[in-house]
Amino acid sequence: MAISLKINKVTQSRIEQFDFEHIEFGKHFSDHMFKVDFKDGKWQDPEILPYGPIEVAPSISAIHYGQAIFEGMKAFKNEQTGKPQLFRPLENHKRLNKSALRMGMPEIPEDLFMLGLKTLIDIDQQWIPTKDGSALYVRPFMFATDDFVGVKPSSNYTFMIFCCPVNSYYPLPIKVLVEENFVRASEGMAGYAKAAGNYGISMLPTALAKQKGYDQIIWTDGKTHEYVEESGTTNLFFVINDNTVWTPALDGNILNGITRDTCIQLLKQKGLVIEERKIAIKEVLEAAKNGQLTDCFGTGTAAIIAKIAAIGYKGEDYVLPNAEDRLISNWLYQQIYGIQTGKVEDTFHWVETIS
Ligand SMILES: *Cc1c(COP(=O)(O)O)cnc(C)c1O
Repeated sequence: MAISLKINKVTQSRIEQFDFEHIEFGKHFSDHMFKVDFKDGKWQDPEILPYGPIEVAPSISAIHYGQAIFEGMKAFKNEQTGKPQLFRPLENHKRLNKSALRMGMPEIPEDLFMLGLKTLIDIDQQWIPTKDGSALYVRPFMFATDDFVGVKPSSNYTFMIFCCPVNSYYPLPIKVLVEENFVRASEGMAGYAKAAGNYGISMLPTALAKQKGYDQIIWTDGKTHEYVEESGTTNLFFVINDNTVWTPALDGNILNGITRDTCIQLLKQKGLVIEERKIAIKEVLEAAKNGQLTDCFGTGTAAIIAKIAAIGYKGEDYVLPNAEDRLISNWLYQQIYGIQTGKVEDTFHWVETIS
């Protein structure tokens, strides 16, 4: 059955006033957004409308109980053809539905998700920045909208997508602190879901680490605090002697990053040994002390690769090799951003062109 998509375009685009030279992450929005409501047990007719505030009841359980989930991906312009393209968007769709299931929310059909996504990016394609390293950040999200304040799953939901042009994002190598008190997720919780509450609870521990001079924290397991899980909202990689790569196995607490999977596939193809397993903070620090930890980074859509300069643990900082000289993280960044923008051949068929 064909979906009918209502399109209500802005009368005047804001693009003329937009300064592509001065973009701050997450502060600027393209002209349009996509919106579809879930009501009477089914998804209603979707629409594309001008980006702007939406009206919700004060009682919605998204606000009170965190029945809200999100995704994050990027759109790029192909350097050769100039056509907009997305990177592995079906993976975001699958993950959104896993988050939805965990939070007692309805799944969204693939055709509805992809129609909204592709039409929105097609309409707002002039908002995709083309300067090296930049992209259009795309934020799909779903939240509960019943006008009812009891703790039970809502019957009504809204799914939306909006877009933010983002600049080249080469973060400086970061200092991370191993967190041994606060926990992001533990067995049976919802660590694998991009559920709003998982991020709310991370803000205080992160702010406390910043007060101590760190940029971010490394989450450890909730039972023993001996094993590393993630760093902030990135998945962790540890490179030993530039030939073996450790990354924590997906144990239900860790978010299944699409950049993580992309790195694993690229590194396997390159012939490196990948160990997905439980990783003790002790072995990481031992490798750092011996000079065997040649590279260490977090992975995620926003930065692709966030290099780690130093790891703080029980009052001691373990300094890692100079960021510019890192073979693996520099190679991964070039490969991934290259595939995303059409500079590097897409042998894995990860790119979805919008025509
Ligand atoms: C989104 C996210 C990641 C990275 O996932 P990508 O699909 O690579 O962007 C990693 N950890 C957490 C906690 C996240 O929310």
